[in-house]
Amino acid sequence: MASLSYDESISFQHGVTEVTGIECRGRRIPCRLVIFDKDGTLVDFAATWAPLIRKRAEILVKSLGRNGELEALLLKSWGIDPVSGRIDPQGPCPVSPRSEEIITGTLTLYQQGYPWDEAKQTVSRAFDETDRTIDRHEISKGVAGIHPFLTQLKSKGFSLALATNDERQDTEAVLSSLNLQNVFDLIVCAGEVTPPKPHPGIVLTICERLSIPLRETVFIGDTVGDMIAGKNAGVALTIGVVEGGVTRREELEKVADVVFDSIRDLLFFGD
Ligand SMILES: [Mg+2]
Repeated sequence: MASLSYDESISFQHGVTEVTGIECRGRRIPCRLVIFDKDGTLVDFAATWAPLIRKRAEILVKSLGRNGELEALLLKSWGIDPVSGRIDPQGPCPVSPRSEEIITGTLTLYQQGYPWDEAKQTVSRAFDETDRTIDRHEISKGVAGIHPFLTQLKSKGFSLALATNDERQDTEAVLSSLNLQNVFDLIVCAGEVTPPKPHPGIVLTICERLSIPLRETVFIGDTVGDMIAGKNAGVALTIGVVEGGVTRREELEKVADVVFDSIRDLLFFGD
């Protein structure tokens, strides 16, 4: 896919007043809105999600009176290696909302002979019980320096938005545990705009609701799907970050306008 020419996104071309923007490869690209993905971008994906998914599998298997063999099957179906705990970057885990993970677990139980409806209810109950028993504050790990990074962006005059495929209930719990619940001007979660990323609808909706044009918007994410969503929406710049996510740099570079090792390497200017 051809890269959007961010080198050409110079302020005077669009008549944009260059008050806030991002410096990238020696260029100053004006923008007023920064849209973030959540998991893998603001939140350390593996550290936050692997223990949660392991707990879901453990509770589910226990509720069925089954053993570790089923637990391993469930973990595999959610894209986690049961032995190493490694998350498959191309599996469902980095991109699927809770509702899809429930369906994935249901399908695994169905293949083991459980009736579909019963399996779905059992998986849903296990997810709910996990939420009640696990300490979100303990397992939610933000990427290093994320709180000062976001508050500085805010103080420079940027509008900030979150575009996540995670459900609102889980999103609010995670943001609250990281003390980031009041940083964003707009948060859009799974199911609130359909279809989800990589469809560009969530990006288009955010720009429309905040009345900020796409050409003054940059999108930061950790997956190929994030980059495709930003590109197809037509934002000024799509930025992939490696730290915190599970997608390899080479994969991100195929679609992102630019890739950084860490969100802290980004240089925004403003008031
Ligand atoms: Mg992500």
